[in-house]
Amino acid sequence: MNTIPKYYKTNLQDIENTIKSVKKANVTTLCNSAGGRPVYMLCYGEQNKFCRTANLSSALGGKDKSCFVNKSQPDYKPTLLLVGCIHGGEFEGTAALLNLVNILETGCDFAGNSFADLKDLTDKINLLIISCLNPDGRSHVPFDSFVGKTFYDLRMFNQGTWKDGTLCGWPECKKIHPIKDYVDYLGGYFNDDGVNLMHDDFFGKKASETQALFDVCEQYVPDFTVLLHGGSNCKNHIIGPAYAPLEIKQRVADFEQFLKLNCEAEGLSLYTPNVNFDYGESKNPPVSFNLPSALTQLCGEPCVTYECNQGLTDAPGEKGYSYSEIYKHHFCLFKSLIEFLEHKNEKN
Ligand SMILES: [Zn+2]
Repeated sequence: MNTIPKYYKTNLQDIENTIKSVKKANVTTLCNSAGGRPVYMLCYGEQNKFCRTANLSSALGGKDKSCFVNKSQPDYKPTLLLVGCIHGGEFEGTAALLNLVNILETGCDFAGNSFADLKDLTDKINLLIISCLNPDGRSHVPFDSFVGKTFYDLRMFNQGTWKDGTLCGWPECKKIHPIKDYVDYLGGYFNDDGVNLMHDDFFGKKASETQALFDVCEQYVPDFTVLLHGGSNCKNHIIGPAYAPLEIKQRVADFEQFLKLNCEAEGLSLYTPNVNFDYGESKNPPVSFNLPSALTQLCGEPCVTYECNQGLTDAPGEKGYSYSEIYKHHFCLFKSLIEFLEHKNEKN
């Protein structure tokens, strides 16, 4: 019998309950999803003042990034944006984010463990938390954990089924977009309009969830943005933003090495694919220009995907991680991000 630990909260009601408990953050409803569900953001800290006179393209055209964002002010505080559940069947990050919120509010996670050092660390940055960007997709998955579930369960509920009842599967589930009118079961990947937010029409009319995330990145210019995904039974890793300037790829690689050391110090392992700066752009066909690529171009700072092992019983790849491994990996990631940003800010 696979019992879900009490701290592992991932469903929409858990999110509502956590949002209602918040007293120390500014709570914003960024938008309503295609299915009419609220997308919340919590802001711990203050928004920096940028004295903006141009968008990023124009500022770079004028050879002066500070026209878009001036980060050299003495009271500047780095901003970190953490986003969970972009794909509705990948809520390992949501579990960690809701606990992080409880730590910031009470000093303890939902299991009652104190994280005093993390709470002190977060005072040094502005922290933006979107625990679930895709509440529609989350509502398409009728349980609270994939730990101990099968690879079939993941594909069934995350990617859905075609009209004949067969699994959509990857990569076929990306070959029709929006997918809504072609499926019998609409999986967690998609909002209620059948849009996979990772591959939205970034240069055209976007889903409200995607547009809301664009607006946050343009408004706050986070120094680092992480989209938290579940990657079946992968070894945990970061996927850097394709088509990004080399300077940003270098920063992603620097952070990846920093995170690897921190993981190893805690007995966790990390796969590090970003040492090579070709993220697939030179392949035929080339790697897709996806949501992190778009956000990186929009704000000129790194936006990455983080893939976490989901603890399945039988999926290809690694052994399925336990609840505590999934949890520890996320907290190591959060702590490393804050330390990395703080260190970078001190150097400026
Ligand atoms: Zn995903």
